[in-house]
This record gives sequence, structure tokens and C-alpha cells, in this order.
Amino acid sequence: MLHDVINPARFSEVVGQVPMLSEAEVDGVLDRAVTAFKTWSRTTPEDRASRLIAAAENLRVLELKLVPMLVRENGKTLREAETDIRRSIELMEIIAADLVEWSKPSIVDAKQPVFARRRARGVTAVISPWNSPVLLSFKRLIPAIATGNTVVLKPATYCPLTITECVNIMNSHFPPGVLNVATGSGQSVGEKLATDERVRALAFTGSSDTGRRIMELSSRTVKKLYLELGGNDPAIVLRDVILDDASIARMSHAILRATGQVCIAIKRIYVHKSRYDEFVETLAAAFDTVIVGDGMKGDTRMGPLNNKAQFDFVDGLVERSKKEGLDVLTRGSQLEPEHWQDGYFMLPSIVLGAGEDHEIVRCEQFGPLVPIVPFDDEEEAIARANRSPYGLRASVWTTNGERAAELADRLEAGAVFWNNHGIFQDLHIEFPGIKQSGLSRESRSAALDHYTDTYGFAG
Ligand code: NAD
Repeated sequence: MLHDVINPARFSEVVGQVPMLSEAEVDGVLDRAVTAFKTWSRTTPEDRASRLIAAAENLRVLELKLVPMLVRENGKTLREAETDIRRSIELMEIIAADLVEWSKPSIVDAKQPVFARRRARGVTAVISPWNSPVLLSFKRLIPAIATGNTVVLKPATYCPLTITECVNIMNSHFPPGVLNVATGSGQSVGEKLATDERVRALAFTGSSDTGRRIMELSSRTVKKLYLELGGNDPAIVLRDVILDDASIARMSHAILRATGQVCIAIKRIYVHKSRYDEFVETLAAAFDTVIVGDGMKGDTRMGPLNNKAQFDFVDGLVERSKKEGLDVLTRGSQLEPEHWQDGYFMLPSIVLGAGEDHEIVRCEQFGPLVPIVPFDDEEEAIARANRSPYGLRASVWTTNGERAAELADRLEAGAVFWNNHGIFQDLHIEFPGIKQSGLSRESRSAALDHYTDTYGFAG
């Protein structure tokens, strides 16, 4: 059976088709990955690194084809898609550069020659989400193949095309069976990968609900799990904040990047009540400048939501918030109003009047709207920020760096930013989500560690 991938900015356009694999077909893919592992796991780190470098060069040459494909299947703007593709390629080069040194055995006891050595684990399943389908697949599958594992990737059904094209391009540099794609539904292909005994490790990025299901299923065969899950990141704006153009632009970007469909987007804002009115006005003015339209158009600053389920959820959330008596300030403008009904377009909104029990504050909205909630004292703001099952990132906005660091110590998040939110320029640096946001570390060495077993060798 074939699945149509629809352009979320132009419903009449089928961007491509992918097969929905049956369990028997996934069996065949797993067989190929198991066979390939026997020889791939015996290759040298030098060999694997040089193949990664060659594949990265090849992808870079084809960037002009990959970027528009990602825009058309995902809804991102051209600039956002370009950033994702470039960072994915850069990641291959970073992993390749370190691989040989990292793979050397290390002596762990000076009194006796005890070496810690590493070996690849086996077949690794990578299950990825639709919001950044290339980068979030590469972050897991590149360290896996670099360390001698073979991979079966299950991309998200809404956005499987660009990542499948990337894998096809890469496969001219790797032996057959090393890097495999199994397209299909989560319930069928995803659950098969989570239960099959041949899968020795599973790297999942997606919602916390699916993460819990995968933990449950994979416990039957005790798989090593890498989980990056949902978030509801708070931003705390203190009394002494400077609300200049640059800081408001950073905040607006952290809320609306990729139409808010980012795990580490700012999803709730707590503002000291003395600055509340001014803050609302300034952020609303920034939202006013957002032009919403097809990501392929140069003037578009924010694309559509990716799919009907997400659009319906966010649209429903706006309606439910209004029914609950909240004030929803909708801003921005439509690039092509005549095409507004042809895509999952939505203008950005600010939601006022919400408290901790309102859905818009509790849930992960994953869309272009954010609640702003006033607070009286900082203790209260920290308590509210931490009152969430999630713990991806947080930010503190203040002129006082020491105070920001003090608050960071007490915020339950994998990383806390001062006057910014979410972006590390250096791909080497990543921090794990805590609480129900995940289990794993993404930094370069941690990623490599994750995909190998360490064993002792003593003389
Ligand atoms: P999702 O959990 O619905 O789907 C993710 C992937 O899991 C898809 O490929 C899907 O087909 C598959 N899947 C669904 N049900 C499955 C099942 N029962 N068994 C196995 N696989 C199954 O998530 P989504 O809607 O694609 O992505 C949005 C979510 O991902 C948000 O919660 C977001 O915060 C989170 N996310 C987290 C990170 C991070 O690094 N922490 C990054 C991006 C997205």
C-alpha cells in the first residue's frame, strides 16, 4: 500500500508517495540489517569515517534538491529547511572527525593492563518525528552507523521523503543492509521494531506518550533505549529585563520557529507583574511582523502547521481557550489570503488570563501560540515553571547574570538559557531532557557511547 505525502501549504499537491510496510516486509528489512552487521561491525573506524565524509560531501552537493523537498513535505520556510539540512551534514563531519580517536581502547587500571574496549551492539532502530525529520533522524543514525551498528530507520509518516532521499544518496557510500528505511505506521512498523528481538537498541524521538509505549514494548527484550520526548519549556522574565528589539526578536523566534513545532520552543512565559503590560505589548508588536504563508515563498516568515491532526489540535486549543474566558490576541498577516484555506495556516497568538490549571499552560501546544502569565515573586515563578512533568529547557530573562545562574540551579530542565532560549551554535553541545522529557544525552561522546557496549580486556 502506498501513502501520499501532502504539501501542508497546498493540499492539492502530492509531494511523493512511500510504501506502508507490512510486518512481514519489516522482517525482511531486519534480516538484511542482521546480515550486514556481521561484516560492517568488523570494519575499521578509519573506513567508516571516510565513508561518512564522502557521503556528507555528496549530500552537500545535492542540498539544492533536498531543501525544497523538505519545505514541501514539512511546511518549514526555506531558511529553516536549509538550516536543518546543513546541520545534518555538519553532524556527519563532526562524528567522523572524532571517530578514530574515540574508538581507541583506554587503559582503566595502571597497576594491571586492563583495557576498556568497545564493540558495536547490533541492529539499531531509529524512530523519528515529523517536525525535523532529517536532523532528528541523523542525530541518532549517524553515531549508530559510525560505531559499526546497522540501522533500520522508521521516519514519521507525514514527512518521510527527504530523509529517505538522504539515505538513498548515502547508500552509495555504504554496503547494502547497513542503512535501511522502513516506512509505515507507528502502530505497525514502529511497534514491530520495539518488540523484535533482533533490534538491540532503539533511539526514539517523539512524544512522551509514544515514548512510554516504546519503553513498555521494548522491556520484553530489554533493549537499550535512547529517548528524546516532549516538552513544555518555561521562560521567566524578571523585573529588570531589557525589552529591546534584539531580545524580543530572540524570544519571538524561540516561540514561533518552525511554527512552534519544536520540542524546545518556549511554550509558556512567566512575567513579573511590574513589566507585564509592557511585555505583552512588545511581544504582540513582534508577532505583528510575522508573515504567514507557503514556506517556498521568500517573504514567508512562518509556514503552515504540518498535518491535520496537529492543526485540529492547535485550532481546538485556541477555541477551548476562548471558551474558558481567556483573551486570545491573534497577530501577524497572511501572505496569500486567497490560498489560506489550501493549507494548515494559522496566525500567531498570545493567550492572556491563563493560570496553571488551564490547558494552554499545562499542555505541549506545539503550535504558534503562547500563554503569558504574570507573577509576584520569583519563588512563585520557579514553582510554577517546575510544575510540569516535562524538563527539556528553560530560560531566564534578566540583566543580572548571577541571578539567572541562581535560578538555573533550581529550574528542572536539561539546559537553562540566559536571555535566549534553545539554540546551541555548536553541535557538540547538547543536554538531555529530564523528568518525562527523556533519558538520554546527545553530546558527541555520549552519542557515540550510547551505541556501543564497553567490555573489559585484561592481561
Ligand atoms: P509521535 O510520538 O506521535 O511520533 C514519533 C514517531 O513515533 C513517528 O515516527 C511515529 O510514526 C512513531 N510512532 C507512533 N506511535 C508509535 C508506537 N505505538 N510505537 C512505535 N512508534 C510509534 O510524535 P510526533 O507527533 O511525530 O512529534 C512531536 C513530538 O515529538 C512532540 O511531543 C515533541 O516535543 C517531540 N519531540 C521531541 C524532541 C526531543 O529532542 N526531545 C525533538 C522533536 C520532537
